[in-house]
Amino acid sequence: MKKVAVAIDGPAAAGKSTVAKIVAERKGYTYIDTGAMYRAFTWYCLKKGVDCQDEKACCALIPEVQIELKPNHIVICNGEDVSSAIRQTNVSGNVSYIASYKDIRLALVVLQRKMAEHDSVIMDGRDIGTYVLPNADVKIFQIASVQTRAIRRYEENISKGIACTYEEIEEDVKKRDYIDSHRSFAPLKPAEDSIEIDTSNMSIEEVVTAIIEIIDKKLAEKN
Ligand code: C5P
Repeated sequence: MKKVAVAIDGPAAAGKSTVAKIVAERKGYTYIDTGAMYRAFTWYCLKKGVDCQDEKACCALIPEVQIELKPNHIVICNGEDVSSAIRQTNVSGNVSYIASYKDIRLALVVLQRKMAEHDSVIMDGRDIGTYVLPNADVKIFQIASVQTRAIRRYEENISKGIACTYEEIEEDVKKRDYIDSHRSFAPLKPAEDSIEIDTSNMSIEEVVTAIIEIIDKKLAEKN
């Protein structure tokens, strides 16, 4: 069977990873969470006590950071399981600074492209369709209103025992959207050939069904 690449981009907390995991399972693709990689790098900077707004100091850590994405959504940074730690609010509040540094992006993009070399993948992030996998077979741009995204992320955090308030989450979502879409290198924006899905009034199952239909249609057209 031909190798397939599906790119899902969009703003923070638009539900990309939730639906990408389900689509990956149903289609037999490997799910690659690129946001987890930027989060792991941020976690390491914070652990080392480096100011995440100090580009030079953060980029100096590139040679010593090793990030691995394991099955079952396990994220390893320098041998340590950071899967839960990278979802904490201190990481969320700093990750967009780290992701705006070109040298860090270039280092992580090498890993991301390598992971897509041999398997069919569904990769989510901000620049997958525009920069990481410009030849992806299917490109989705998944959006939702700020309020919908903040409520979803707030409820997710509370269910995972992550302490936060709704106001904090809404602020964080807006701040990340701004930084992610205004950075100079590989900013958040829809690829010209992407298909936009507004999930504000859709259930997870409806989004999953819509994406699988798009994938099946695109692949049928190509064959
Ligand atoms: O997807 P998630 O919200 O976990 O991503 C965390 C952060 O990582 C984003 O807010 C963004 O700053 C950055 N990111 C990025 N490019 C990607 C994936 C994530 O800049 N491909």
